[in-house]
Amino acid sequence: MATSHSEIIQILEATVGKEWVKTNPDDLETYGRDWTKFFPPDPLAAVFPKNIDEVIAIVKNANNYDFSVVPSGGRTGLSGGAVATKGEVVIAFDRMNKILDYSASDRQVVCEPGVITQQLQQFAEERHLHYPVDFASSGSSQIGGNVATNAGGIKVIRYGMTRDWVQGMKVITGNGELLNLNRGLIKNATGYDLRHLFIGSEGTLGLIVEVTIELTNPPIEPCVMLLGIDSMSRTIPILEAAKAALDLTAFEFFSEKALQHVIEEKNLKRPLESPNNYYTLIEFENFKNTAIDKAMEFFEFCLTEELIADGTMSQSTTQAKEIWRLREDISETISKFIPYKNDISVKVSLIPKFIEAVDNLVTQAYPDFEIVWFGHIGDGNVHLNILKPEATPPTEFYEKCSKVSPKIFKIVEDFEGSISAEHGVGLLKKEFLSFSRSAEEISYLKEIKKIFDPKNIMNPGKLIDI
Ligand SMILES: Cc1cc2nc3c(=O)[nH]c(=O)nc-3n(C[C@H](O)[C@H](O)[C@H](O)COP(=O)(O)OP(=O)(O)OC[C@H]3O[C@@H](n4cnc5c(N)ncnc54)[C@H](O)[C@@H]3O)c2cc1C
Repeated sequence: MATSHSEIIQILEATVGKEWVKTNPDDLETYGRDWTKFFPPDPLAAVFPKNIDEVIAIVKNANNYDFSVVPSGGRTGLSGGAVATKGEVVIAFDRMNKILDYSASDRQVVCEPGVITQQLQQFAEERHLHYPVDFASSGSSQIGGNVATNAGGIKVIRYGMTRDWVQGMKVITGNGELLNLNRGLIKNATGYDLRHLFIGSEGTLGLIVEVTIELTNPPIEPCVMLLGIDSMSRTIPILEAAKAALDLTAFEFFSEKALQHVIEEKNLKRPLESPNNYYTLIEFENFKNTAIDKAMEFFEFCLTEELIADGTMSQSTTQAKEIWRLREDISETISKFIPYKNDISVKVSLIPKFIEAVDNLVTQAYPDFEIVWFGHIGDGNVHLNILKPEATPPTEFYEKCSKVSPKIFKIVEDFEGSISAEHGVGLLKKEFLSFSRSAEEISYLKEIKKIFDPKNIMNPGKLIDI
């Protein structure tokens, strides 16, 4: 006989304590969703375990009493991965938020999954070290969520993705087994590295309950340059020249529309005298104090070759931060328009042609919608944001956008790109997975899921259906 809802609540209360099982509507609304606003949350409860033993007990109960779970980190996800729409039990890691260990010789930090990304960045800074994975949501997102999505961000061109910094992790599979993966080793040639299977698995194989992260040296006096450009075709020669001249730590871009939203909302000054169609933000290290001269030569080259129309360079850390705000505040600024986000990537060299093709399509397909482009162009990753007109209800807007998505993703497929560069698949991109993964690959993904989660209790319905 199926276990009733009230019995499940009692089982959870016996596992984590009554006060750590939330069932009131406000908590369910808060913990049942992420940053996507298209899927109405409807969880049965949100539970807050305090340690690994409690997490194991919850998963074993889920197997025994037939309920499914949705792992929830900082809920900043942009693909609906942490949304609970079908009476699932949300497992929130907010109480498992401690840094457990630090080794200066190994340059390793052992974190509970609920450690906030910025907390880890600060911990590293206090030790004159650096955790380089960074993005606008780092003040709220959690390490567990970052690992589950293999988060990227603004420094990938130099430091790679979250995956590149995980030296070990403990996970609890859908079976309720605890696995200790890679144990913080740099070298370990003992067959399949299951750590990498769990990184980016969006909570569908198991729960990340501990992560060992490597730290690195901080960048030396980062300087920031903002360049105004007329056409996207200019970005690749600019990137080539910048890579040859400078030690790049970021190469980002945004459109004039993105800039307009930020300067209006945040009451900021326009960075360059006249508007340009696009802007490139370049960050580089001032290694041995020689980079400034090289940067000036690079700037002159771009002007002479007519690659850029105008530009500015930070003269201080404060100015560098001000320029970064123009890029970093875009997501938050446009969030009030409930944007339909496409987080797509192709090889860097294909970016100008790719953007032209997608831009032509979306301007025809959405004549009444505002389109905002920005992204990590140095990694071949652009964010296409379609803003919801005030009068259009969210569901109608979502349906209209979903109809055009296959056409956008067909272009992505033709360019051999990815329908999700860094945000994950979750609910939002699930139906489009075949544009980036072959039928054979998808069937392997399903078989892998069945091994780690035979009863399909781990974030069911996200990424793939089995
Ligand atoms: C303003 C803004 C800017 C952003 N910029 C970037 C960016 O530049 N680059 C980028 O990559 N992302 C970006 N994001 C997206 C988001 O911040 C990342 O995907 C982040 O890694 C999500 O972390 P989280 O803790 O909020 O996870 P959540 O949203 O809570 O969850 C994300 C997924 O991970 C799963 N999960 C969470 N915790 C665990 C766990 N312990 N074990 C197993 N599964 C778990 C969830 O079930 C879900 O599927 C941005 C988001 C916002 C709002």
